Amino acid sequence: MITFENVHKAYGSHEVLKGIDAEIGKGKVVCLIGPSGSGKSTLLRCVNGLETYQQGRIAINGELVDATSSTIHAIRTRVSMVFQRFNLFPHRTALENVMEGPIHVLREDRQVARQRAEDLLTRVGLAEKIDAYPASLSGGQQQRVAIARALAMRPEAILFDEPTSALDPEMVGEVLQVMRSLAEEHMTMLVVTHEIQFAREVADNVLFLDGGRIVEQGPAAEVLRNPQHERTQDFLRRVTHPV
Ligand code: ADP
Ligand code: MG
Repeated sequence: MITFENVHKAYGSHEVLKGIDAEIGKGKVVCLIGPSGSGKSTLLRCVNGLETYQQGRIAINGELVDATSSTIHAIRTRVSMVFQRFNLFPHRTALENVMEGPIHVLREDRQVARQRAEDLLTRVGLAEKIDAYPASLSGGQQQRVAIARALAMRPEAILFDEPTSALDPEMVGEVLQVMRSLAEEHMTMLVVTHEIQFAREVADNVLFLDGGRIVEQGPAAEVLRNPQHERTQDFLRRVTHPV
């Protein structure tokens, strides 16, 4: 579904991705883990064309992703992104935030988009909050609106960039629960996260990125329980025992 072949990306002379090879199968959940600055966000941003890359190839269902191509807008609608800081429109209600993309990008009928937005907000547990503005919602609620908004685009895959890192601890569970339900419905997901327990329970595969290279990848159970590489072992020790 999403393939990376020898992807290289630099900002100026600073090489951030140094030859990424990976594959994300349809309906699979892949967790991308690794230290800060290793290139996780950059990799995600290359997938939906928010960033260009200099060498190699990223393809979605066989179609080349190229941020400079005329089809990039079409590609971007096929892969939704959920950000650490929600990025909701502050002057729009939850419902309006979810309806925005379908109406303006997918050109859906307003009534259809509205009904679907209500259904999606209900599905993420926010039926009571459809008319609320982001500022009156908790972080966990805002992130669930952001997930409903991502789903409203009928994406083939969703990219999550540390979706729970900005949340108070008591709100992490409600967001992970929504993500878990998407995984059960076989949504294809690439998730940057430090929630190792979530990765253990939900991910099919784990990629460990360090210094712009995938140091280790494989089935979640193997990589997380029995990491082969010393850097993976080190990293997992630090995130699971932060002090
Ligand atoms: P991660 O998400 O794993 O923390 P990032 O992908 O955000 O890592 O960043 C990887 C490296 O690229 C870092 O050294 C960061 O400083 C650099 N970087 C990220 N975005 C930019 C940018 N827009 N311009 C220049 N350097 C950047
Ligand atoms: Mg990041």
